[in-house]
Amino acid sequence: MLDRYLEFTHSSLGKQIATSLGLPTPPRLERAESGYAEAPLAGKTVLFATDAASTTAPAALAALRVLGAAVQVAPSHSGFAAVKAAAQATGVELRSEGSDTDPVAPVIVFDGTGAAGAKGLKQVYELFQPRMRRLVANTRVVVLARALSDADSVEAATAAAGLRGFVRSLAKEIGKNGSTANLLEVSKAGEPWLAGTLAFFTGPNSAYVTGQVLAVGEAPKGAATPAHYNQSLAGKVAVVTGAARGIGAAIAQVLAREGATVVGMDRPAEEGALGASMAAINGVGLALDVTAPDAGERLATELKTRFGGADIVVHNAGVTRDKMLRNMSPQLWDMVLDINLGAILNINERLMQSGLKPGARFVCISSIGGIGGNAGQTNYAATKAGVIGYAESLAPILAKKGMAINAVAPGFIETQMTAAMPTVNREVGRRVNSLAQGGLPQDIAEAVTFFASPLANGVNGRTLRVCGQNWLGA
Ligand code: NAP
Repeated sequence: MLDRYLEFTHSSLGKQIATSLGLPTPPRLERAESGYAEAPLAGKTVLFATDAASTTAPAALAALRVLGAAVQVAPSHSGFAAVKAAAQATGVELRSEGSDTDPVAPVIVFDGTGAAGAKGLKQVYELFQPRMRRLVANTRVVVLARALSDADSVEAATAAAGLRGFVRSLAKEIGKNGSTANLLEVSKAGEPWLAGTLAFFTGPNSAYVTGQVLAVGEAPKGAATPAHYNQSLAGKVAVVTGAARGIGAAIAQVLAREGATVVGMDRPAEEGALGASMAAINGVGLALDVTAPDAGERLATELKTRFGGADIVVHNAGVTRDKMLRNMSPQLWDMVLDINLGAILNINERLMQSGLKPGARFVCISSIGGIGGNAGQTNYAATKAGVIGYAESLAPILAKKGMAINAVAPGFIETQMTAAMPTVNREVGRRVNSLAQGGLPQDIAEAVTFFASPLANGVNGRTLRVCGQNWLGA
């Protein structure tokens, strides 16, 4: 559904009216228009800085080199010696930043993995404060912190936690021009997987992801660093449930854009829409209700006989049937629980017996409603919170088998589901986030595709909110 207010404020009359009345002007977000390039940061300048005690700087610089970035540095920053030493160790060429009136590079990576205590946090202030007025639109800020579980001391863990608050607040300050800030909590075992994660967080693929904290750690058994960034899913087979329209159709498109063959599933009543959605990407439609008693069996058989199994399974099908609990019938409760949660457990159980290829990746769609809760959504929120716990608890079991599972929690996304909301609720839902607008199905699809790809090999059992830093459950 078109966001008329956003469009209006970008017309010349609308801009004048919004400015004179002091109304917010939601920024236009820069989104990916094509697949990942082989070197996703080629042609881009990245300002890179670290704290003085960083030990991750060599890994971070090596990752930026893999991505093709031109690395710029701030020689007057107190962590510069660590950057210089890391550059010498890795052979990465550094360029000095321009004058202090020039616009800042469109990507900023600050490695705060060595920060300790209150004083250690001063280095993040020193880097960002003088540059805040010179950030360009759609800047990507990525801060690295040491995972708390891997911190060498109480002081180090304290500073790492401090960076969470810093990044979440920074994201709220810079969202006005479409810029984002996210924190990657890197354990020592996660360092080899930085390049893939940075490819997503420094690019247009994460346009609606801001104010988030994501752990990067050990990869599942046998995982290798991405052989390619371009077409990284070539030769892979991906199942997407609820693929006839909305977010599911977008997920199918973005997976196909990165090279996957998609098997789209939807209810038999949606067969026409599913056929159209699959025809557009040379995919295969499977008219099958996820709650059918034989859904897992039929899907596994189809996958085995046609493709030898699936590499990627995306559980997207979902419904809302909102009612205050006092008025909720058992039918409404059961329906939502069966589709949004029960079907995921049943289908996965069957697929894990047979129907998967080695190294399979699962991605489940949760919701910020499952994190913050909503009056009238006890059924829906129970399923979406359940999905988060499911991913977290299944991840270590899957990792031993070389597989991974993650979840994506959308905020307000412009689809048929949100178009059905009452006007006032819809308008509030759109604006109460740091980017002052709803997300698009593509935003969820980009995050799902990241998790489905080798770019996310260091991420397992996590839930990423794709919500523009929505206030709900923040
Ligand atoms: P949507 O436009 O309603 O699309 C959902 C699709 O799933 C529809 O094609 C639907 O088919 C299908 N589906 C429903 N029940 C099914 C079943 N039993 N078996 C197979 N397919 C089934 O919804 P959406 O907005 O794209 O949402 C997709 C996912 O994102 C859901 O899990 C939702 O909870 C989650 N989400 C969405 C938002 C948002 O703002 N839109 C926010 C948070 C989370 P029918 O039309 O036949 O029912």
